[in-house]
Amino acid sequence: MRVCKLFAFLSLVGGVCGHSLPSHAQLSSELVRWKWAALRESGTPEAAVAELCREIDARYLKLGWKKSRCSEFPFQIFGWSVENRPLIFYKAPTTQVTNKLSLLQCGIHGDEVTAVPMCLMMLGEVFDGKKVLPEGLGFIVQPLLNPDGFLAPTVQRPNANGVDLNRNFTTSEWEKQALKYWADKDKKDPRKFPGERSSSEPEVHAIVDFIEQYKPQKIISIHTPLGFLELDSRGDKDTVRRAKFLAINMVHNAKNLNFISYGIWPGSLGNYAGVHLKIPVYTMELPPGTSLKSKMRHWDYYGFSLWRAIQFDLETGTFRED
Ligand SMILES: [Zn+2]
Repeated sequence: MRVCKLFAFLSLVGGVCGHSLPSHAQLSSELVRWKWAALRESGTPEAAVAELCREIDARYLKLGWKKSRCSEFPFQIFGWSVENRPLIFYKAPTTQVTNKLSLLQCGIHGDEVTAVPMCLMMLGEVFDGKKVLPEGLGFIVQPLLNPDGFLAPTVQRPNANGVDLNRNFTTSEWEKQALKYWADKDKKDPRKFPGERSSSEPEVHAIVDFIEQYKPQKIISIHTPLGFLELDSRGDKDTVRRAKFLAINMVHNAKNLNFISYGIWPGSLGNYAGVHLKIPVYTMELPPGTSLKSKMRHWDYYGFSLWRAIQFDLETGTFRED
């Protein structure tokens, strides 16, 4: 297997067999895949997670931020990206498969860089004992759903296949509408390409399997830079009412965040999980800004609101504080 890959790689580098020489970008992408495939096949998840955290730290420094604390946390792997980077999650030790589980997700759009630190800073506070998970509630963090986009030579919204992961989930109207929406509403913006078919991307497969396995009570997904909170929620009247109550509370506990209805998109996480699975999805769009100052301000303005959401039990409609 590895020998085959080596020949394929040498052929790419050498431009043999009638092929032209690859561009610098093709070459560096191939080298990245090569490195990560070797790590993936080595069967040592710790090494893959350590290398991912090293790349995240390098990205942080490039953005003018201090190092992340990624390497401090005991992440597990729930899947692999197109370029073979691990998709990681942290599960609080007390978490069981429960219907009182909060799933906090960051970094599905690789160029929305200040989303990622919100997940990692939340973990830092939990690890420092500044935030204690109330008994009976579960908590899982997926800090970087699109590592190839966030860690590309230049950060990019889609994954390494050029697919917008937040348009690639299988939803009932995907076949008829995804490419039409892309053409009409997104004017074929390549950053928002939904893919040739739904669930074509390994990242989306892994996220779907994960959600189906853990069945979270709610999902909180962090984006930037639109500055609003949106809720996708379906189900019986009382469930929707409690979900909305939390959304209003989150806005109340945050600065400069409007509660709006942005609309349903074919293939979005909000559509897949919020509408089809009836798991309320809170999409928090942070305001613009990628400087160190903006990153810290986002945590100041929205960190508490996120923690209150994790403390909220949607089943009973109450906050649990210890
Ligand atoms: Zn986004």
